[in-house]
Amino acid sequence: MERKIIFATGNEGKMCEIRMILGDLGVPVLSLKEAGVQADIDENGKTFEENACIKARAIQKLTGQIVLADDSGLVIDCLNGEPGLYSARYMGENTSYDVKNRNLIERLQGVPDQERTARFECVIAAALPDGRVLTTYGAMEGRIGYEIAGTNGFGYDPIFYLPQYGCTSAEISLEQKNEISHRGKALRAMKEELKKIVG
Ligand code: IMP
Repeated sequence: MERKIIFATGNEGKMCEIRMILGDLGVPVLSLKEAGVQADIDENGKTFEENACIKARAIQKLTGQIVLADDSGLVIDCLNGEPGLYSARYMGENTSYDVKNRNLIERLQGVPDQERTARFECVIAAALPDGRVLTTYGAMEGRIGYEIAGTNGFGYDPIFYLPQYGCTSAEISLEQKNEISHRGKALRAMKEELKKIVG
């Protein structure tokens, strides 16, 4: 069987980021669609790590290949970590991010700068054919802004203010975001692990 890596996502935007980082591993990295895998996995874990492991293990069992999966979200300190694990489902899966972002800004009305701290977190899990599951973690620190700004990125990027750039993560380029993002950091750490296995 030809060796390949399957990334358990259907999100093309994510696959683009993933290929930019894992592209030179020397092993093809395929999305679920490209690998011809159809699966509906219940993400019922209680942490990002549990969810990433659940997805990676399930697809590994189906395909026999090295399977990567990620789980990520926005953690806002003054909202006790919300939306966190429920970032995609916050206010309903089909609610637009314009509505979600406006709602979060409203909930933080009157909260001063120093208490608006937040971070994007990401865990990547790799389920290997020998049964091992490896995980890596990355975080990007920032603050919830006072208004929506920027059109790059996706999801909560337009309200995620990066003090070091003086703008939101929707106002920096994909290359810049990859360098500092939660997913970029977790992916680069995973790349080091994968080099030991496929390299
Ligand atoms: P999942 O990891 O695909 O389950 O996505 C989790 C959710 O977290 C996404 O749907 C977004 O709402 C949010 N999220 C994760 N990473 C980012 C990011 O880099 N920018 C903006 N939102 C993000």
